[in-house]
Amino acid sequence: MSDKHSKTKTDSIPFIRADLSQIAQYTPHGVDSSKPVDRLDTNESPKDLPLELKDKLTYLYQHSIEANRYPDWSHHASKEAIAEYVVESANVTKDVTPAHISVGNGSDELIRSLLIATCVGGEGSILVANPTFSLYGVLATTLGIPVTTVGRSAANWAIDLDAAKEAIANPQQSPVRVVFVVHPNSPTANCLTQDEIIWLQSLPPDILVVVDEAYFEYSQTSLVAEIAQRPNWVILRTFSKGFRLAAHRVGYAVANPDLIQVLEKIRLPYNLPTFSQTAALVALQNRHLLLPLVEDTLQERAKMWQSLTTDFADKLQLWESQANFFYFRLLDGDDEALGNLTAQLIERGTLIRHTGGGIRITVGTAAENQRTLQRLKEQLSR
Ligand SMILES: *Cc1c(COP(=O)(O)O)cnc(C)c1O
Repeated sequence: MSDKHSKTKTDSIPFIRADLSQIAQYTPHGVDSSKPVDRLDTNESPKDLPLELKDKLTYLYQHSIEANRYPDWSHHASKEAIAEYVVESANVTKDVTPAHISVGNGSDELIRSLLIATCVGGEGSILVANPTFSLYGVLATTLGIPVTTVGRSAANWAIDLDAAKEAIANPQQSPVRVVFVVHPNSPTANCLTQDEIIWLQSLPPDILVVVDEAYFEYSQTSLVAEIAQRPNWVILRTFSKGFRLAAHRVGYAVANPDLIQVLEKIRLPYNLPTFSQTAALVALQNRHLLLPLVEDTLQERAKMWQSLTTDFADKLQLWESQANFFYFRLLDGDDEALGNLTAQLIERGTLIRHTGGGIRITVGTAAENQRTLQRLKEQLSR
């Protein structure tokens, strides 16, 4: 809602598509984050890779990566390792093979590829339930794709399914071709409900269902098993959150091989730099060194929930989290008050995100979380 967007003067450039002048740039950070601050606004993992893994990557860069050669366009090694991880992580009985995987420059790239594959050229619109990850709408709009939005219940953030069914049955614009859901949702941190899953399963084969599992490592809840019987479903995952590789931009899609082939057709041939492919592979091979931090974060989340619900019960409307962040509103205060609170926390050195009519705060290190709670307390008791 009050995400900071900067307008550009594209409307004065005669060769630029007229509809682009209506679109603001997606800006993940509202402020300059080069100062030493607690960066709790983008749901990254709070810790860098262990030095042991950085040493491995350094060694590989020096001795094995050929900087003069193009990357492996086939992503073969990455796909093999990812497929193995998906099978292990989601406990799927049916095999997920490299043919079920496409790797992107972040899952953001895969979102764009899915939009190109389905809706570009007036072929259809997308449906999202707000508040949700805003990039679906932003990317769709840059491609001239209409976005249909429905709401959620503020009690538990469940999607307004009646509105969603109505929007699909009687489209206001071109027919709904893709439904995007996040599992668990960002910014509200709730998993899909059983009713929502049943609704998604009931969607006809000419509607693509995208289940974004960016926070899977935290939620440990996956719908990957659906892929085996649902050719119109795709699961998105990323290395940017639980795997601590946001700097390297690696995401992946899991879907039926026919759909994967379309994604492979659409992507840029060398979409993934060699060093990023290497980093993803090293991270997967050493996941026993990386994923324990997810456990620590979950423990920190529990501690934070305890503090929030005891110390702020009379100030904040809080929702439980299935991910590595919390979402809240003021019990007594509007969106403008939330905007002020955000600015004040940022001023004190905690970057947070004011979005969708609430505030989202990433669970950080123990020290960061202490500071978050302290700064919230100072601010809310004024
Ligand atoms: C962080 C996030 C992503 C971004 O993933 P990248 O792989 O870094 O592009 C995608 N979807 C959701 C819901 C996210 O929160």
